[in-house]
Amino acid sequence: MLTGSCFCGNVKYNVSGELADKGICHCLSCRKISGSTYTTNFVIPESNFSLISGTLKQCTAKHENGMDLTINFCQNCGTTIYKTASLDMFAGVVVLLAGTVDGGQGVEKAKPNSELWMKYRVDWLPSLEGVTQFNEFPG
Ligand SMILES: [Zn+2]
Ligand SMILES: [Zn+2]
Repeated sequence: MLTGSCFCGNVKYNVSGELADKGICHCLSCRKISGSTYTTNFVIPESNFSLISGTLKQCTAKHENGMDLTINFCQNCGTTIYKTASLDMFAGVVVLLAGTVDGGQGVEKAKPNSELWMKYRVDWLPSLEGVTQFNEFPG
């Protein structure tokens, strides 16, 4: 069981079960969402996410590959908790921002299986050993 929260503490959530995947994403949308070079993500089945407190608000915009990308964020402080997307590979899953997970179980345990949107990885950031890399999304 993972627990997580937002910057202001209003949003609290639990995640049950196993992670489906772990990945970092260098896409241009993830720069905006994180305000940084990439996002660090846990992919989880949608039904494993439970909101305990607070209110999540949604915003949908076009990803640079044309799909609809929706962010779910704390309505009070704006911290993005998870993303969903209209692409087939994201059906039934939520892509959780690992930095919102508490108790040393988030980014600390987020060494990725894959690195996505390598075409936008900034050149000062070294490549990760033993991680499958994709220029865009897999497939
Ligand atoms: Zn908040
Ligand atoms: Zn991304």
